[in-house]
Amino acid sequence: MSTRPPLDAIVVGSGPNGLAAAIALARAGHSVRVYEGQPTIGGGSRSAELTRPGFVHDMASTVHALALLSPFLRALPLEKFGLQFAHPEAPFAHPLDDGTAVVVERSIDATANALGKRDGRAYTKLVRPFVANWERLMEALLGPFSLRHPIMMARFGLPAGMSAERLAKHTFESERARAMYAGVAAHSMVPLDKLATSGYALGLIIAAHAVGWPVSRGGAQQLANALAAYLRSLGGEIVTDTPVESLAALPPSRVVLLDVTPRQLVRIAGDRMARFRRWRLTRYRYGPGVFKMDWALNAKVPWRAPECLRAGTLHLGSSLAEIAQSERAAWEGRDSERPYVLAVQPSLFDPTRAPAGKHTLWAYCHVPNGSTVDMRERMERQIERYAPGFRDCIEDARATSPADLERGNANLVGGDIAGGAADLSQLYTRPVASLNPYGTSIDNVFLCSSSTPPGVGVHGMSGFHAAQAALKALRG
Ligand SMILES: Cc1cc2nc3c(=O)[nH]c(=O)nc-3n(C[C@H](O)[C@H](O)[C@H](O)COP(=O)(O)OP(=O)(O)OC[C@H]3O[C@@H](n4cnc5c(N)ncnc54)[C@H](O)[C@@H]3O)c2cc1C
Repeated sequence: MSTRPPLDAIVVGSGPNGLAAAIALARAGHSVRVYEGQPTIGGGSRSAELTRPGFVHDMASTVHALALLSPFLRALPLEKFGLQFAHPEAPFAHPLDDGTAVVVERSIDATANALGKRDGRAYTKLVRPFVANWERLMEALLGPFSLRHPIMMARFGLPAGMSAERLAKHTFESERARAMYAGVAAHSMVPLDKLATSGYALGLIIAAHAVGWPVSRGGAQQLANALAAYLRSLGGEIVTDTPVESLAALPPSRVVLLDVTPRQLVRIAGDRMARFRRWRLTRYRYGPGVFKMDWALNAKVPWRAPECLRAGTLHLGSSLAEIAQSERAAWEGRDSERPYVLAVQPSLFDPTRAPAGKHTLWAYCHVPNGSTVDMRERMERQIERYAPGFRDCIEDARATSPADLERGNANLVGGDIAGGAADLSQLYTRPVASLNPYGTSIDNVFLCSSSTPPGVGVHGMSGFHAAQAALKALRG
């Protein structure tokens, strides 16, 4: 009689990385079951009618550019399982106090032309070589640290390794272009004078030109649903509403992959984890939190710069200095009076998001980890600054604090949406410096969340790489 356990693999957590890991294992012919703690699947890729019936709001991620960049996700037949992307005409815009906006278009030339002669030339010189080679670049960037494509990576490393503040000041003459660069770099949630923050801006700008910054048609949930449907078509199972408290509580399986962050890993692993590894994991740092707002609107946002209506994403903060100050405050545990606000207006490009003639707006600002301050008023003030009359368009709103975020997804520790601070020291060496960042020191137990390389975002690459480590164990 065979003593083989009934399951090859268990995945704990159905975020994009958990589902990607499960799919990679199922495609290799293994039996897989996913346990999800929440009643619905998807983790950071979920949507719901948070305000009023008919208004679909994304509960976490909304812009799915990284899914299009991801060598793993873009090779999956997700369209067949219902996934469609809705592309805004322009990926993002940065409105300014003078009533104008810097718009980053799909075309590099159109973007450069609007930046003026000198800064336009500098912009083109900075981004064009990487956009031309984006597939190879992303293969190297969206994985654990490796020596793939060394020449291109060395070229990319020079501007990417700088602080966003330094690169913006060295490369661009105008405050407009500098503010635009700071606005994209601030996605990192790391102070803009820190090394490698420029890499976030550069990577996201390359994405804007290479693949666009789309949303998933019908809501971010559709991406998770398509992954889940594909997984089930491969024979995988998903069990919801089942928080996993310890490894011992799981049924037998040959490997276990955990889509959780180090704090939960330590708890779930208990004394099966080597003491030294546990000590190292308890030193893992979480970054700032997020205060999120979702609005149901009776009209489009009345941006003073009408070109903002062509863009999916808006970065709000009038200058490099203002954005840098706001990001440093959140990092150092202070609330910002004028927070940098990241807003997305999906219903302009995806009519399924709101009843006819109505709209949704999704936005967040960075706050100290675990902050209990209500940022709604300050965020609305920032939007009014660039869109006077915005408040008159509000039909309903839902505020989500860092604690609310964590209640809805245990991975969002203190509201940290990045699975841990993503400064240089925790970028590629997350969760600890190791040749196998997906290993946990426990045989056949792997970590597959965004707390492993390549980190934050809906790309599924942490799950894919962790699955490769698990497949090795399964073969062994
Ligand atoms: C407000 C917000 C906005 C964001 N915006 C974007 C964006 O626009 N674009 C983008 O690319 N990324 C964005 N992100 C980041 C993105 O959502 C994450 O990087 C991504 O979802 C990480 O995937 P993951 O699978 O590692 O973890 P998660 O998506 O966090 O999934 C983890 C899953 O594990 C489950 N889980 C945790 N512990 C247990 C347990 N003990 N037992 C069972 N289940 C458990 C959770 O319930 C959850 O479903 C955003 C995140 C947030 C919160």
